[in-house]
Amino acid sequence: GAMRHLPYFCRGEVVKGFGRGSKQLGIPTANFSEQVVESFPSDIPTGIYYGWACVGNGDVHKMVLSIGWNPFYKNIKKSVETHIIHTFKEDFYGEVLSIVITGYIRPEKNFDSLDALISAIQEDIEEAKRQLDLPEHLKLKEDNFFHLPEGKIVNN
Ligand code: ADP
Ligand code: MG
Repeated sequence: GAMRHLPYFCRGEVVKGFGRGSKQLGIPTANFSEQVVESFPSDIPTGIYYGWACVGNGDVHKMVLSIGWNPFYKNIKKSVETHIIHTFKEDFYGEVLSIVITGYIRPEKNFDSLDALISAIQEDIEEAKRQLDLPEHLKLKEDNFFHLPEGKIVNN
């Protein structure tokens, strides 16, 4: 499953998503370009993950991430979206986002209501926060990956 791909390091530009209204729900998701998504292992399961993220050469924050099916491409291509657990003063479209995915929470699900979706995401965020405080996940916050010059992309 998911575990054998982790930890997974990835760096790429933040692009415009499909305006699903994530920000209106209070959970904006920074989308990676199609090119970056294509570089992911094709057999990495869709679902909700967690890890660490950093914008440009800013601080490293906790994040939750969804690997899902991209409605723009009739669900034959994946999308990768990172919600950083931090309040930013401004949007950061066009900036370089560096992430390390360290754990898997659950598969993708369909929800009966918006409320059910929002509470599931809030639970995912709480789960991510707890897991990331454990030593095996916390140690990746300090990984050299976050201090490498831009452009040097190192996976596994
Ligand atoms: P889009 O459909 O363009 O991805 P979203 O509603 O998902 O729109 O908002 C995503 C954008 O919000 C990101 O690209 C980023 O510029 C901004 N943003 C602000 N705060 C955060 C955050 N904590 N996590 C992720 N993105 C954030
Ligand atoms: Mg988004």
